[in-house]
Amino acid sequence: MKKLEASWVEIPENSDFSIYNLPFGIFSFRDEYPRAGMAVGDEILDLGIAAYHGMFQEILKDDTIFDRPVLNEFIRLGKKTTSAVRKKVQDELCDSNSRFRQVAKLLVPQAEATMHLPVQIGDVTDFYSSMEHATNVGKMFRDPENALLPNWKHLPVGYHGRASSIVISGTPIRRPWGQLKPPDAPPAFLPSKRLDFELEMAFVVGGDSTLGEPVPASRAEEYIFGLMLFNDWSARDIQKWEYVPLGPFLGKSFASTVSPWIVPLEALEPFRVDGPLQEDPEVLPYLKTSGKQNVDLTLEVSLQTEQGGPGMICRSNFKYMYWNMAQQLAHHTSNGCNLRVGDVMASGTISGKERGSFGSMLELSWGGKEPLTLSDGTTRTFLEDGDTVIMTAYGEKEGIRVGFGEARGTILPPLEQKRENS
Ligand code: MN
Repeated sequence: MKKLEASWVEIPENSDFSIYNLPFGIFSFRDEYPRAGMAVGDEILDLGIAAYHGMFQEILKDDTIFDRPVLNEFIRLGKKTTSAVRKKVQDELCDSNSRFRQVAKLLVPQAEATMHLPVQIGDVTDFYSSMEHATNVGKMFRDPENALLPNWKHLPVGYHGRASSIVISGTPIRRPWGQLKPPDAPPAFLPSKRLDFELEMAFVVGGDSTLGEPVPASRAEEYIFGLMLFNDWSARDIQKWEYVPLGPFLGKSFASTVSPWIVPLEALEPFRVDGPLQEDPEVLPYLKTSGKQNVDLTLEVSLQTEQGGPGMICRSNFKYMYWNMAQQLAHHTSNGCNLRVGDVMASGTISGKERGSFGSMLELSWGGKEPLTLSDGTTRTFLEDGDTVIMTAYGEKEGIRVGFGEARGTILPPLEQKRENS
């Protein structure tokens, strides 16, 4: 990776938003309308202002493309254009003679801005692609000897999720009500007692594909715009009772939290690594990939309670994924299902081999049997009201750091409304 000149924007040393990152997001400042920006250090570069002053006149036909409340139309222009915009910003920020140094209001402090969902999300898919996570869950819920189901190493298992309840980092999460079934009693309608997080990464689809035409794994990256952190909040007790035989539903659909910045795939290039061997069994030809398909990103989860913290409860890594993003996308479209700009595909919970790298409370407390002691001295099996879950992700290599900011959410107590005939 070529080292860049220092930027004239001051960037703190350990910033997630180094000059090598430059992720896209939607922000608003004071009472102004939401529009597109790029994170750099502790600032947001206002892409609308940059375009107005001609920064992209050789790249973009429409210099109002950033004055929109979502990035979908910009992303739809294609990677050639979106990459050229990012490269142009990088060049200008590293040029000490740039005329944009003089442009008023080009930069606004992140601390004073409000972030919004970066895209209008279309369809949502959640995969189940970490072998360690699938093994842990299989051991707890099914058979300790045969934790993985027979299909697991042959295809990236996934299910269709819900877009309406995806929220931006910082949005409080209301504890859901649902049917809970105690082991020796009939089901009752109650607030979930086993509320959990799932540490995931998600990619945002960056191109429309044609209905009926699969996207081969070798071309998958043309359809991946960038990545975000994804917390797939889960109510384990609702999930356990409802999911047989058709899979996750209300135990998952009440909320998922994403981080505000979409880190473009090209910013992750320095952190690409080989994935795990897929030889036993060998995967079918349409799922074969080569080269560095995984990404070495440190993932951390911290828990802040009403007593104290935050304290780290999990450190995992995106490189542990058994199935990579190209395989997920190729499998998703293999039956002819089409992609649309703004679709979100989440990885599934990302766990490593050791207890401290498990990406959910379900695994960290081993099904609630082994409570976790927090840094404030209290213990947890699942999340309590007032708990705040904070997820972060970053890649770091040879002095180059690219991070995702955070995906944060605080648990609110359940609504106390009277539930008729509950
Ligand atoms: Mn999930």
